[in-house]
Amino acid sequence: TPVTIIITVIGVIVIVALVTVAVLQNKPLLQKYKYGIVLDAGSSHTALYIYKWPAEKDNNTGRAEQMHVCKVKGPGISSYAANPSKAGESLRVCMEEAKQWVPGKRHHETPLYLGATAGMRLLNMENSTASDKVFQAVKEALQSSPFSYQGARILSGQEEGAFGWVTVNYLDDRLKQGLETTGALDLGGASTQISFVSDNFDGSESPSNSVTFRLYGNDYNLYTHSFLCYGKDQALRTVVAQQTQSGPEKILDPCSNPGYNTIKNYSVLYDSPCVSNRKPQKAPASFHHVGKGNFGECQKIVRSIFNFTDCKYSHCSFNGVFQPHLQGAFGAFSAYYFVMSFLNLTDTSMPLETVKEKLTSYCSTPWEQIKQQHRAVKEKYLAEYCFSGTYILTLLTEGYNFTSESYSKIKFIKKIKGSDAGWTLGYMLNLTNMIPAEAPDTPPLPHA
Ligand code: AMP
Repeated sequence: TPVTIIITVIGVIVIVALVTVAVLQNKPLLQKYKYGIVLDAGSSHTALYIYKWPAEKDNNTGRAEQMHVCKVKGPGISSYAANPSKAGESLRVCMEEAKQWVPGKRHHETPLYLGATAGMRLLNMENSTASDKVFQAVKEALQSSPFSYQGARILSGQEEGAFGWVTVNYLDDRLKQGLETTGALDLGGASTQISFVSDNFDGSESPSNSVTFRLYGNDYNLYTHSFLCYGKDQALRTVVAQQTQSGPEKILDPCSNPGYNTIKNYSVLYDSPCVSNRKPQKAPASFHHVGKGNFGECQKIVRSIFNFTDCKYSHCSFNGVFQPHLQGAFGAFSAYYFVMSFLNLTDTSMPLETVKEKLTSYCSTPWEQIKQQHRAVKEKYLAEYCFSGTYILTLLTEGYNFTSESYSKIKFIKKIKGSDAGWTLGYMLNLTNMIPAEAPDTPPLPHA
């Protein structure tokens, strides 16, 4: 009929117009995306990251980017040791959210991973049955989702460090272009990682600190180390525990603001493999934690949790761990960023002396004043910033040997081009084989 003919003609015209526009813009007709989900099961919290990348990758030029992050309510999964099923339940809200973000028809092909870090490493050391049960509960929760579940496991410290490095350099486009790479500094609650490429390191002096990659046709020999118990929360626990050794009923803590005064539980303080071997025999049930607010004295105690004496290598950071000379620029993320941004210390062109002065001033500010000035900030974090800032400065300058010159090459960052810095993206890129070992063939020259 004439009507059918007219509709067909209009249809053909519309399709021709769409194709012309697409060809002129050199884009696929309808940009299709693929998706991937990674859960970062950290010691203090779990976060679910959704990534997307163009499905018709024009020779791998499409970059994966973070589409959404969902913060799981409540503590990290290792805190559910006494009640494992709750660990699984805690993930449900974010899993529901993920179903809304990933288009329905892509659900079944979207890989879903969970990686746990130092919180679970510690629980596994302390009580492997409890850790297995937590994993079982978490697995069941993830398997009941429509996504393509690929497994839940504990990452090794090397993996955590190396994938953080991959993320930073991938997002900065350094790998594909074969540019000089950026080192990665990651500070979690229970462990901390340092990873960088050094021309003086081929892995032979300390093979356990070496990770090699071949990416886009370039070989990388990465130095990486993860210090268990040197995450911010476990280091604080160690520093407080240290102070309870001399006077177990009351501590006058230079790392807490003056006027800070609370009663804390002794068993809770010592309930971690990072300190449990030091628990005094006749410990009281609780102790008074009183703030004194003195940066210099705080730094002395912080220093004492590092061992600088034993080193069987040419160079060490601390605790007898090999470290080659620092090289190049660094990105410092996770708790490094949270703490330094709160303290207005992200500008690393600031001389180290000024950083110390600012910390001295923050530490000596009365607790009541701090609370009044920052009503929107969680009290738990507020009470810890004097310690955290002191710890970060000491870890960087004395632990890793950053000098006033190399310190200025550190950038405290949260995100790069919209994606969070952290191990999750690098982990997914690796497991989905999204970074080719060889550079893609250079396209043939066009015909004249
Ligand atoms: P994890 O849970 O192991 O990834 O560690 C994250 C660390 O960042 C923990 O030490 C948290 O206490 C810390 N953190 C998260 N948010 C903040 C914040 N706003 N201020 C200070 N520390 C934070």
